[in-house]
Amino acid sequence: MSGLGDPGALAIGELASPGSHVDSVLTSLTEHLRQTSPRFLGYPVNLDFDLSSCAPLLSFLINNAGDPHGGDLMGIHAKPFEHAVVEWFTELAGGDPRSTYGYVTGGGSEGLLFGMHLGRHRLPHAPVYASDQAHYGVRKAAGLLRMDFVPVAGDADGAMDPQALQAACEVRRAHDARAGRPPRGAVVVATVGTTMTGAFDDVAALRRAARAAGDTYVHSDAALGGLLAAFSPVELPWNLEHGADSVSVSGHKLIGCPVPCGIVLAPEHLLPPPAADEYLGSSDHTLACSRSGLAAVLLWRRLQELGTAGIRDLVLRCRTTAAYAADALSQAGAAPRHVPHSITVTFDRPPAEVCRRWHLAAQGPRAHLLAMPHVTPAAVDALCSELPRRLEVLPTRLPRR
Ligand SMILES: *Cc1c(COP(=O)(O)O)cnc(C)c1O
Repeated sequence: MSGLGDPGALAIGELASPGSHVDSVLTSLTEHLRQTSPRFLGYPVNLDFDLSSCAPLLSFLINNAGDPHGGDLMGIHAKPFEHAVVEWFTELAGGDPRSTYGYVTGGGSEGLLFGMHLGRHRLPHAPVYASDQAHYGVRKAAGLLRMDFVPVAGDADGAMDPQALQAACEVRRAHDARAGRPPRGAVVVATVGTTMTGAFDDVAALRRAARAAGDTYVHSDAALGGLLAAFSPVELPWNLEHGADSVSVSGHKLIGCPVPCGIVLAPEHLLPPPAADEYLGSSDHTLACSRSGLAAVLLWRRLQELGTAGIRDLVLRCRTTAAYAADALSQAGAAPRHVPHSITVTFDRPPAEVCRRWHLAAQGPRAHLLAMPHVTPAAVDALCSELPRRLEVLPTRLPRR
């Protein structure tokens, strides 16, 4: 049986399964996950953590229904933990602690949807402008919110080009003016860490460029790159201080967490009126009703064990590994490219078998690896040793810098 279980063994029947059967299926899943992580190079999640000490919590329901602050009548929540996580991220993201709202989401995509929902509330007729390198979740959210989606070209690295954004805004504004309509404004999604190349959109520059559309709302989709930008040696404008109205990150990407989760922030004054609720004893601006209090506690636990300094160290380590990978791939003749300060290295797409073994994501002629905290130089070397030899180019090609 494969570690992921064969469908026959997983089927749920009329009668309870013997415990021994269930245990053996779960043991093989555990083993499968254990064996996968050393070769997991292509996706932006951190597999290097161990929160098994939190296992006793699995005997309880922890339900953070409604907003993380304020009351809660159910009384089986962990909202103070969630609040602590939101406070930590508010400081990192340059928010005003007195007036910034936030909550622990189910992941980066929910944070993105939440930000775009606030943008639509503020500018009901504005289209969404995002780079053609943005995460596919932007299109999904635009569809749900029934917003027009305007893809904007990226530069050679994959970051949105502010001039292209300004031009797209001007075209639509002129079009509306000819039709006798007032300017609709712009909801801009800045991608901080693009999916394929890890490029950083410049929140401040995009905000300025979008003024051509009239009123603007900017969401910073910083799922992976927010924490990289926060600890970058050069200033990368990504957060609330730099001109974003709202910002979201994933918790299971750089930080690492056993369940997908994330954090979203926005100033209180931009929130739509809450679906206030006597039943919950809490206001609720979130997109869900019941939310995972377990995720909030686990994220809190992880942040406690690292501290801000620990996250900074993680980022430094990832950058060092990314630089190592760029060198090693260059020596292997795989023509790597590495956007400065990112931890993503793109290179010539290897054969399908190598992509599968190393869990590499590929697009067209290129693949990428992400130097997440569990990725070691030894794993990078092992990958390089499996790349097709290019003896015909090797002797003449110097490593790129
Ligand atoms: C990963 C990612 C998302 C989606 O986040 P999830 O946590 O997987 O939902 C959205 N945007 C960007 C830029 C991402 O990197």
